[in-house]
Formats: sequence, C-alpha cells, structure tokens
Amino acid sequence: YFVKEHIVLDQPIQMDDEAFHHISHVLRMKENDIIRLCDEKQLCYARLHFENGAVYALPYERIEDKTKTAVPITLAMGLIKGDKWDLLIQKACELGVEQIIPFTSSRCVVKNKAEKQDKKLNRWNKIAKEACEQCKRSALVKVHAPIPFAELTKWTQPNTLNLIAYEAADLEGQHLASLLAQHKKPSHVLIVIGAEGGFAKEEVELLRQHDFACVSLGGRILRAETAAFYALSVISFYYEL
Ligand code: SAM
Repeated sequence: YFVKEHIVLDQPIQMDDEAFHHISHVLRMKENDIIRLCDEKQLCYARLHFENGAVYALPYERIEDKTKTAVPITLAMGLIKGDKWDLLIQKACELGVEQIIPFTSSRCVVKNKAEKQDKKLNRWNKIAKEACEQCKRSALVKVHAPIPFAELTKWTQPNTLNLIAYEAADLEGQHLASLLAQHKKPSHVLIVIGAEGGFAKEEVELLRQHDFACVSLGGRILRAETAAFYALSVISFYYEL
C-alpha cells in the first residue's frame, strides 16, 4: 500500500478509506496481519491494528527495494486507443517505467480533448497505482497530462539517453540493443514510441536535432503497445547485466 506520510518504524499510520476497504472487505485481513507499506522512498513490513472502525499499519521492518530498474526509464508514448492505452499503462508499470508522458503527434488517431482532462488523468493514474501495488513496486508511476509532440524537446536532461523508436529506422538506424551497448551508462533513459500511425519524417528530424538518437526495434513493425513493452524490456534488461 502506498501512503502519503513519511514512514517511521514503530509509528502507526492510519490507512485511508480506499485501503481500509481493500484490507477489511476485499482481503478480509485481521489484527496483526502483515502488509507491505511504502512512501515513495522506503518499503516496509507493517502489522495491522484495527481500532474504532479504522485500520492502522505499524511499520516494523524495512525491506530492500528490488523494484526499481537499474536506470530510471521515462516512456513518452503517442496516444493510442482506449483499451490499449489502459493496457499500456498497466504493463509499462509492471515493466518498471518511472513515468509516462503521453503525446499527440501528426499521425495520432486519438485526439486529446481538453474536456474531462482531469477525470482522464485521474483514471490513468489510478490504473498506474493499481498496477504498481499489484507488482509491489516501492514508488508510484506518474502519468503526465498529454503534450504536443514538439514539447518532447523540453524533456531532455543532462546525462539522459534520449531515444526515439522509428519504424523506418531499420533502413538507416541502429538497433536499440546495439546503441545501448555503445553508450556509457546514463543516469536516465527517455524513450519515445509513436502511436498507431507512427511518425512523420519531420517529427523524427526535430527530435534528432535535440539530441535524440533514432533506434530500430528490429525488422518487424510492432504494434505501438508491443513496441513500448519491447523497448522497456530491452532497456531494463540491458542495465541489469
Ligand atoms: N504506421 C506505421 C507503419 O505502418 O510503418 C507503424 C507505426 S508502429 C505501429 C507504432 C510505433 O511503434 C512506431 O512509431 C515506433 O515508435 C514503434 N515501432 C514499431 N515497430 C518498430 C520497429 N521495428 N522499429 C522501431 N520502432 C518501431
């Protein structure tokens, strides 16, 4: 369970309504049952205590955090259609992404409508939270508000390896894995994956001018969500070695 408070060993934390419902009604947990608690920085075991219709968690032991990838990965992803987008968030969280930046580009079929933006963002972050809890991650994945493609240029940081997976890169670009092998370990990786329609040449050129390297994910054209899962797996696996 994620808590907003800073965890201090032996200091009880009152669980919020959502956690209370899950603990008592879904999992039917009892006094002294053990849960995992995290506050974005640390992961602990905690014992449950029920009192006056509330549930408290008493953290008693820190757990070594093995849930982070060796290098944090940001996924910038072209907006894709409903169900696939939800699946994308869920699986990217399981695969260790640190944050997701949705974007719209010239060949995106899905348009980013301004209305209900907050509701949509809340839903996306809820999917991320549930996925992080399910795979017992120690930190939540943030799903940002969608941005226009050109704003991706503002996301580059020093010592970040900026990559764009381009479906036509097979002809002129390097495979992702061989590019990783040629670079020294960065402090962060930013990978950009296109939506169903892929990228216009000018879009790829714009990012290239801003220190992004163009990579191939192999000779087969993958669906957008498959491309994201493949790229996240290759990058995280590479730096685990
Ligand atoms: N509509 C495009 C076409 O027909 O060529 C395909 C776009 S693909 C479904 C969506 C995104 O996945 C691409 O923009 C790219 O980021 C990524 N992708 C898929 N296969 C790839 C590959 N073999 N190499 C690099 N990127 C790939």
